Amino acid sequence: MAVSGTILPGVSKEQVQERAAAARQAQTVWARYTLSERVRRLRAVWAEIDAARPRIVETIREETGKPVAEIETMEIDGVSLILTYFTRHAHRILKDRPVSKPWFFFNKRAYVRHVPRGIIGLITPWNMPFLIPVGDAVPALISGNAVLLKPSEWTPRSALIVEEIVKATGLLPEGLFQVIIGDGAVGAAVADESDMILFTGSTASGKKVARAAAERLKPVVLELGGKHPMIVLRDAPLERAVKAAVWGRFANSGQICVGVERVFVEEELYPRFTEAVAKEIKSLRQGEGGEDTDLGRLIFPRQLEVVQAHLEDARAKGARVTGGEIIDAEKLLVSPALVLDARPDMKVMSEETFGPVLAVMPVRSPEEALRLANDTPFGLAASVWSRDVARAEALSAFVEAGLVSVNDVLSHYVVCSLPFGGVKDSGLGRRHSDEGMRMFCQPQSVLVHEWPPNLPEMWWFPYSRMKTRLISWMTRFA
Ligand code: NDP
Repeated sequence: MAVSGTILPGVSKEQVQERAAAARQAQTVWARYTLSERVRRLRAVWAEIDAARPRIVETIREETGKPVAEIETMEIDGVSLILTYFTRHAHRILKDRPVSKPWFFFNKRAYVRHVPRGIIGLITPWNMPFLIPVGDAVPALISGNAVLLKPSEWTPRSALIVEEIVKATGLLPEGLFQVIIGDGAVGAAVADESDMILFTGSTASGKKVARAAAERLKPVVLELGGKHPMIVLRDAPLERAVKAAVWGRFANSGQICVGVERVFVEEELYPRFTEAVAKEIKSLRQGEGGEDTDLGRLIFPRQLEVVQAHLEDARAKGARVTGGEIIDAEKLLVSPALVLDARPDMKVMSEETFGPVLAVMPVRSPEEALRLANDTPFGLAASVWSRDVARAEALSAFVEAGLVSVNDVLSHYVVCSLPFGGVKDSGLGRRHSDEGMRMFCQPQSVLVHEWPPNLPEMWWFPYSRMKTRLISWMTRFA
């Protein structure tokens, strides 16, 4: 049972198949609309969704206990930025792309056309129940696809509101955007029925989805867990770095895939940094999702066990731990924890915590920080902090992560022109950006012979020695 309500009954495999059939039919209608028409309709749908903002905010608040500020800015304004980017740039991104050819094809046209894949299966987690599913649906729909969305069974209600609004507007063909309720097994059925899967969730589930997709040769994009290393060099801008570490870890109660999980601080700065971080954490106002709350609760009950296990392990291995007390187990309220003198063999440093726990470790040099930062199976987000921006930027090139920041945290998602995704166990493929939108289409290669209309090519039958020589000569200058 979710903290704020009951799990909604899931659908059967047969129902998923029926829904997919309806989506497929709707997609054939939708794909025939011009791109401008699809953009116009989606903008109009978004206006209706935005008008329902108070209801959506309240629903997300009930399901997740997030501070209202985070719901408004991260979840809803985040989607608004995604919509703005893709509606503004879709024509450029999806237009036919002429390509070069050998010179003796001067009388033909060659270009790449972007054809929608059909049904995009979006399987999404509980930590960002609106931003991730709705944000990913936007480019998938604009590019002419249907969407079957399987939100986490813990947080499906805001997606259901979107589905209801879509229906009420009548602007999209019936069945084009559908929310499918259920657990992991329903997610697997959605993946089965889709032509492409964009999965966001844990590495363990992502690997299962990838295995199933491989069996059917389906494209799959995986957006998985992370273990953000924040490398703080001795000349880092202290106040900004401290505030970034605390926000970057405790925003969304630490349940953000790109959230700061490990901080490596050069030892000269370590005492001042840790003292300031401890002070900053004390100033956080924790509550149950009010207007003036900085920190909410955990969303998913199992996270309470993970957080406690990681803190216990850190204590047992000699770290100095403050906070992390369970304020109310039923309400999943746990106070923000600071783990000082963390070591690589501790769970807080080696496994994804995905909770309000900030682990800090002193390092002797930037090289040591880099080695430890990369000593993880994950490779999603990372940041490097220094007043010498060029030096930090140079160091960031050696961090094994899909997303790196210099003197910044957690911002890639809303800079939609940047590809978003990870390396190693953090995923495969990218969302957002021009490439991320094109991945919802298959590249169809088009070759058109223009003139002379009725003359056969010399490389067709019949072959002759002279023709073969001529073709070889022409090829040499291609
Ligand atoms: P899970 O992997 O448990 O679940 C993600 C989604 O997949 C849920 O909808 C779940 O259903 C469904 N699911 C589970 N098993 C399968 C399966 N075999 N086939 C198809 N679908 C399945 O992840 P969490 O919900 O616990 O999310 C937290 C994780 O997500 C963290 O590791 C976090 O780092 C990662 N994440 C990554 C992001 C990124 O962009 N890289 C962004 C946000 C989070 P149900 O839960 O209903 O059972």
